[in-house]
Amino acid sequence: TDVPHTRNFCIIAHVDHGKTTLSDRLLEYTNTVAHRVMTDQHLDSMDLEKERGITIKSHPVTMLYPAKDGISYRLNLMDTPGHVDFSYEVSRSLAACEGAVLLIDAAQGVEAQTVANAHLAFSQNLKVIPVINKIDLPSANLELCLQQLEDILAIPSDEAILASGKAGIGISDILEAVVARVPPPRWTNYPQTRALVFDSLYDSYRGVIAYARVFSGSLKAGDMVELMSNGVRTEVKEVGVFTPKMQKVAELDAGAVGYFVSNIKDPAEIKTGDTVTLSQRRATEMLPGYKEVRPMVFCGLYPVESSDYEKLKAAVGRLRLNDAAFVYQQESSIALGFGFRCGFLGLLHMEIIQERIRREHDVDIISTYPSVVYHVVKHDGVVIEVDNPVNLPDPGTIIEIREPMIKAAIHIPNDAMGDILSLVMEKRGLVDHTDTLDATRVMLSCSLPLNEILVDFNDRLKSVTHGYGSMDYELGEYRAADLVKMEILVNADPVDAFATIVHRDKAEGKGRALCEKLADIIPPQMFKVAIQAAIGGKIIARDNVREMRKDVTSKCYGGDISRKRKLLDKQKEGKKKMKQFGRVSIPSDAFIKVLKTN
Ligand code: GDP
Repeated sequence: TDVPHTRNFCIIAHVDHGKTTLSDRLLEYTNTVAHRVMTDQHLDSMDLEKERGITIKSHPVTMLYPAKDGISYRLNLMDTPGHVDFSYEVSRSLAACEGAVLLIDAAQGVEAQTVANAHLAFSQNLKVIPVINKIDLPSANLELCLQQLEDILAIPSDEAILASGKAGIGISDILEAVVARVPPPRWTNYPQTRALVFDSLYDSYRGVIAYARVFSGSLKAGDMVELMSNGVRTEVKEVGVFTPKMQKVAELDAGAVGYFVSNIKDPAEIKTGDTVTLSQRRATEMLPGYKEVRPMVFCGLYPVESSDYEKLKAAVGRLRLNDAAFVYQQESSIALGFGFRCGFLGLLHMEIIQERIRREHDVDIISTYPSVVYHVVKHDGVVIEVDNPVNLPDPGTIIEIREPMIKAAIHIPNDAMGDILSLVMEKRGLVDHTDTLDATRVMLSCSLPLNEILVDFNDRLKSVTHGYGSMDYELGEYRAADLVKMEILVNADPVDAFATIVHRDKAEGKGRALCEKLADIIPPQMFKVAIQAAIGGKIIARDNVREMRKDVTSKCYGGDISRKRKLLDKQKEGKKKMKQFGRVSIPSDAFIKVLKTN
C-alpha cells in the first residue's frame, strides 16, 4: 500500500562493532519495544549467539518512525548473521533491503568483515550509510576512520554519521538518513507476485514459518503459492509482520517484510533465497541470487555413552528442522560405535551445532576430525566427492585429488607481517597481494586450502596479532594437490575414526604426533602393541603402548574374597566398553580422549 513511505534496511558490521546495541536503540527510539521490557540485546535471542557475539537466525522487525518531514515511515530492519560461514544467508538478507547502515567501531576502524560486508552490500546495489559508532570511547579515532572510509571502501567521508549506540548519540540522525538516503522498495511494478524467502523457522504446531520480503503483488491467507526453485505448491495459511513479535495481518503487500505459514511441514522444501509466486498467475523469472547451499565441512558425531544414541538422533533431527544448511546421515565406526556423519557450512557452524547438541539436548558427544569435500578424479574419468577419508577409493584407481581453496582477506598490524607470512606458508597458502590500509595496518589477500584453516588458523591469527588481526574469506575453486589418506593402525588394524586426508609433506609429522598421543592415552597392555601411521600400507611413523603384566587382585594381600570379587566385577564391567583390535582391547574412551585433545 504505502511503498513511498517504506524503507527496508539492515545493519552490517564487523563482530563487536555494536550492531546489537544500536539495533536495540533504534527499537527503543521508535517505541517498537518499550524501554521497560527492553532486555539487554533484544535482537540476539539465543544464549549461544550472545556468547559468541554472532547472530545466526535473522529476526526482522518493523518499526514506525515519525520523521522530521511529518510523515510516519514504515522501517523494516533486517538482521544479518555476522559470520563468513553464513555469507549466503547474509547475501539473501541484504537482497531483501534497499539500504545498509555500515557500522565502524571508532576505536577499531575498518576490519575484515567490514570490508566483506560492504562489498556484499555494494554488489546488491544497496545504498550504504556509513556510521562511525562508539564515539563515546576515549580511544575513538575519528580522523582515521573517516580516512579509511575513503581509502578502503571508497565512500565519501562527509556521508558518515557519528554515533554511539551505548550513549544514545546520533540515533535520530541514523533514522533520518535511512528515510532520506535509502530508496523506497524496488521492483514493485513487476506484473506478478514475487516474494523472497530470506529465512525460515520451524514450529512443531504450525510447520515451517517462512520469512519473506514481498517485492511485487501481495500474499494473503488462502493464496495458492508456488516455490519457484522446486515447483512445490502450497496454500498460505497466515501472513504477518514482526513487531518484533509475530503479528498476524490481512495481507503482505509490495515492499513488506513479514512471514507466511503454509501447509509445508518439511523445512527442506522451503529454501533460503527461493522466490514465492502465485500458482494461478505465476511469475516467469525468479528473483536474482538463488543458490543451493552445500555443506563444506563434514565430521562424525558420536555419543560418548553409546546408550545416548537415540537422544543424539532426536537432537540432530530437531536441529535440522531449523537449519536447512545442516545435514546428517547415520554412520558407524569401529572405534566409536553408532553415530552420524554431519555436514556444515563451515567450522563455526560446526561448533555451534555441537554446542547446541551438548547444551540444549544434553548429549555428551565426540566428533571426529573435520574434513572438507574432496573431488577425486578416477582412472575411468569419473569424479566423485569424498567427505569422509574412510571412503577414499584405492590410490591405484585415482588420477588426482582436488581440494577446495578459499580466498582470504587478512587484516593485520604491520608488525605481525613476518609471523603471518610464515603462518600462511605453513598452511600451504599463497599471498596474492598486500594492500596498505593505513599507517599501521595492512591487508593480505591470500589463497589457502580450506582444509588447512579448519583447525587452528583463526586462533593462531589472533594470537600472533594479539587479537588485532581479523580474517574474512570466500570459497574459491578446487585445486589438485598431493593428498594422501593416512591411517592409524593399532596392532596392525586400522582405526577408522583416525583416518585423515593430508598433504603428503605433512603426513609424517602429523602421523608421529597422533601415534605418540594414542600410545600415551591407551592404557598399558599385557603385551607389546604397536601404534602405526601408514599411507597405503607403508608405515611412516610408529610408537608402542606400554606393556604391563599385573593381576588386578594382587593388591589385596591376605585374600578378602568379597573385595577381590568386586575388583573382578569392576574389571568385567570395564571390558564391556572395550573395542577389540586383533588381540588388543582398548577402552573406547581412549579414542575419545585423543579426539578431545586436538
Ligand atoms: P555486535 O557484535 O556488533 O552486535 O556488538 P554489540 O552491540 O554486542 O556490542 C559489542 C560490545 O561493544 C559490547 O560490550 C557493547 O556494550 C559495546 N558497545 C556497543 N556500542 C557501544 C558504544 O556506542 N559505545 C561503547 N563505549 N561501547 C559500545
